[in-house]
Amino acid sequence: GATERRPLIAGNWKMNLDHLQGIALVQKLAWTLKDAGFDSGAVEVAVFPPFTDLRSVQTLIDADRYALALGAQDLSPHDSGAYTGDVSGAFLKALDCAYVLIGHSERRTGHGEGDEVVRAKVQAAVRHGLVPVICVGETEAELEEHGTSAVPVRQTKAALEGVAAGTPVVIAYEPVWAIGTGKVATPETAQEVCSAIRNAVAEALGDADAAATRVLYGGSVKSGNIAGFMRQPDVDGALVGGASLDAAEFAGIARFR
Ligand code: PGA
Repeated sequence: GATERRPLIAGNWKMNLDHLQGIALVQKLAWTLKDAGFDSGAVEVAVFPPFTDLRSVQTLIDADRYALALGAQDLSPHDSGAYTGDVSGAFLKALDCAYVLIGHSERRTGHGEGDEVVRAKVQAAVRHGLVPVICVGETEAELEEHGTSAVPVRQTKAALEGVAAGTPVVIAYEPVWAIGTGKVATPETAQEVCSAIRNAVAEALGDADAAATRVLYGGSVKSGNIAGFMRQPDVDGALVGGASLDAAEFAGIARFR
């Protein structure tokens, strides 16, 4: 990634680790990074635990002054009221969440979330002062039909409709065929798509925002393949699933240099 953007290494735990296991992982992660002399000013590390873990992890980060950012994996498009099972962005903000994932492919495919739902959730995040980490990416079939950048670019534009210039957002490019499969995009493909996404951000929010926006790669990122992605000028970090569940491995990704 370019030097003017602080890289973001984000760990998406998905539906793994209860709050006790989450506490153990975050402690181990923080100690591992500290022992390695990790410079959290240079690289931001964030964890995205399940909702039920957020309070425990927040308390731990606060009490021990761990330099880790907190995020949630989803939020309601609504602010409060009769939405059984939903979690409001206001509640996440009250737990010091800085970020919230929106439109992860497992939400898009498993819960039928399309561009409209994603857009409403982005709006909700922004209303509550959360930075949306908007996940975009094509399936294998879409890749064959539309080529590399078309779907992620369309999803990015759709998600940013109605967002005001100057609103901080993060975009995560995750080819669906690379998620949890061990198949990774090449660094060159990741660069090509992340650059196209940055152009889409420029169209939606302007050049200054595009230059400031962090665009992440996700999909089977490991400590052994992160460096190639981070060398690309338009890749500003990673969204990590499976490899974020192991403290040593995730710390290795955060220490990509
Ligand atoms: P993975 O998941 O790293 O296990 O491929 C990435 C994600 O779904 O965010």
